[in-house]
Amino acid sequence: MASQTEENYLKSLFNLANEKNEVNISELATQMQVSLPTVNSMVKTLQKNGWLIYEKYKPVIITPEGKKVAALVIRKHRLTEMFLVNKMGFGWEEVHEIAEQVEHIHAPKFFERMDEMMGFPTIDPHGSPIPDAQGRIQEIKYLNLSDCKAGQVVKLAALTNSSTEFLEFLNGRNLRLGTELSILSKEAYDQSILISYLNHSSETLSEKVSEKLLVKLLD
Ligand SMILES: [Zn+2]
Repeated sequence: MASQTEENYLKSLFNLANEKNEVNISELATQMQVSLPTVNSMVKTLQKNGWLIYEKYKPVIITPEGKKVAALVIRKHRLTEMFLVNKMGFGWEEVHEIAEQVEHIHAPKFFERMDEMMGFPTIDPHGSPIPDAQGRIQEIKYLNLSDCKAGQVVKLAALTNSSTEFLEFLNGRNLRLGTELSILSKEAYDQSILISYLNHSSETLSEKVSEKLLVKLLD
């Protein structure tokens, strides 16, 4: 069974891995906010458990077993976030820190019951897919709002960033998953985008915001 620290490393490895499942050691150190020697010793521990492959001076490779352990932690995280929002009435901006703790509980029954109580959701409150009980993830292809054109009508489906600050920014503008947005125009100079939705007849979003919004094209 993985320790809490090991689970956090595996989650980072999972998120940083490229198509070849490789992760750069210094990127891992940055993400985990620890020194290189600390990462090196943890990498050796993870290797002993078969969760990654490490050769000196090469990127580490996360193994299928390592990916599965990581995906199952992510499953518990996302189920918890959904439960907090759907069943306990928390806002989507309040749930991440709680889920960071709950995801380390090793009691499958607890999460099975949670899943069942919600009717087996497939996405979390931020639109990210919830891995299944075997650790498989159904990645959904969305467009970034920043890549859309004037005249298009889209539905907000997910976010690429779910920091509290960003979620509060969206709350302040009444932007939620499922909101339909009409793209009125796009500024050639700075790529800011003018949209209308609900009772907002014109709202400008900077590129910094629009590139973090994932949308589905409607019509
Ligand atoms: Zn989260």
